[in-house]
Amino acid sequence: MLRTIEGLDVQGKRVFVRVDYNVPLDDDGKIRDDTRIRASLPTLKYLLDRGAALILASHLGRPKGKVVPEMSLRPVARALEELLGRPVKVAPDCIGDEVKRMAEELRPGDVLLLENLRFHPEEEENDPGFAKKLADLADVYVNDAFGTAHRAHASTEGIARYIPAYAGFLMKKEIESLRKLLENPERPFVAVIGGAKVSDKIGVLRNLLDRVDALLIGGGMANTFLLAQKFEVGKSLSEPDFVPVATEIMAEAAKKGKDLLLPEDLVIATAPKVGEPPRVVARDRIPADMMALDIGPKTRKLFSTKIGQARTVFWNGPMGVFEVEPFRGGTLEIAAAVAAVNGFTVVGGGDSVVALEMAGLSSKIGHVSTGGGASLEFLEGKELPGVKILER
Ligand code: ADP
Ligand code: MG
Repeated sequence: MLRTIEGLDVQGKRVFVRVDYNVPLDDDGKIRDDTRIRASLPTLKYLLDRGAALILASHLGRPKGKVVPEMSLRPVARALEELLGRPVKVAPDCIGDEVKRMAEELRPGDVLLLENLRFHPEEEENDPGFAKKLADLADVYVNDAFGTAHRAHASTEGIARYIPAYAGFLMKKEIESLRKLLENPERPFVAVIGGAKVSDKIGVLRNLLDRVDALLIGGGMANTFLLAQKFEVGKSLSEPDFVPVATEIMAEAAKKGKDLLLPEDLVIATAPKVGEPPRVVARDRIPADMMALDIGPKTRKLFSTKIGQARTVFWNGPMGVFEVEPFRGGTLEIAAAVAAVNGFTVVGGGDSVVALEMAGLSSKIGHVSTGGGASLEFLEGKELPGVKILER
C-alpha cells in the first residue's frame, strides 16, 4: 500500500517535495513545454491549502555533477510563480548554510525552489550524507516525480530514510494506473508495442505477454520479428542479434494461446525523409535497398479492429518514423483507435506521448504516463526504489 499525502496533517510543517521539473528549454532558456510544471500543481496546492511551507527540488538535464548555468531551475521558478499565483523563492543551491537558513525562514504558504539537484554528483550516487542534508531542510518528504522513481537517488530514495515519506497525487495516479494493467485488467487486454528497438523493451514484451490477450507489434522493432519469420527487411532498422529473442517471444505467445500480430504490409522508402516517395508493399516484398518506415493500410485496419474490441489497452512506441510526415499515418491511426476505446487506456513513452499530442488526442486517453523509463520498468514487473520507499 502506498502512503499518500491524502489527509496528511502538514499545518506549519516544511514539506520537501521532489517534483519533476525536467522541462525542455530552448536555446535562449525559455520553457518550451510547461506540462510538467502544471502537472505538479494539484499536489502543491493541496499542501499549501493545508498550511505547509514547500521546499521544491528537481533535476534538469544532465549536468553530470557540475554547475551548468544553462541548466539552472530559475526559469522554472518564474513559470511556477505565475501558475501558482504566489511568489516562489529560488535558492542558490540545494544544500549548504544559506539554503538551510532560507528553509528555516519559510512560513506557511511560502514556496522555495532549490537549485538543480544534479549539480552535485552525490545526488545520483545516492550519497547518505547528501541525502541527510536534503532531509534536514524539512519535516516531511513527498515524492511526486514518478519519472525518476526507477532510480535510487538521494532525492528519490535516500532522503526517505531520514524523514516520513509520502506519495504526491501524480505519483499516486501513475502507480494506480499502471498497477491496474498488471492486476485484474478488464478483458480483452491489448498491448500495442512499437518504437525503435526490441532490445529496449524485451522485459516489457515478456511480462506483458503473460497478462494480455493480444500483443500488437509495429514500428522499427517489428522488423526484427519479421526477420525471425524469415522475411527480408532490406535496409530497415532491425536487430539481427535479437532474432532469437523475437523467435522465443513468438513461440511463447503461441504456447500461451495469445494473439501476436505483426505488420502485414508496410510503407517503404529509400530513407526516412520528406520527398522520398513512399510506397506500400506486402511484408514479403521489401526490396533490398529500401526501408520499412511505417505500418501499411492493411495492418492499420487489422490493428485498429483488434484495439476496438479491447476493454483495456496499453500503447507504447510509435508505429513508424512519425517525426517525418509521410511516415506518420500509421501512428496517428493507432492513436485514434486507442482514443476511441470504450474502456481503460494507458499510453506511455516519451515519443508516444509526443505522437499523441500531435494527434491532439491526449485528453481522450485514460492515463498518459509521463515517466518513460520508469513506466517500462514498472510494467516489466520490477520494483522501483522510489516507489518501494513510499509503501507501508
Ligand atoms: P517511446 O519513446 O514512445 O518509448 P521509442 O523511443 O522506443 O518510443 O521509439 C521511438 C522512435 O522509434 C522514434 O524516433 C521513431 O522514429 C522510431 N521508429 C519507429 N518506427 C521505426 C522504423 N520503422 N524505422 C526506424 N525507426 C522507427
Ligand atoms: Mg523514446
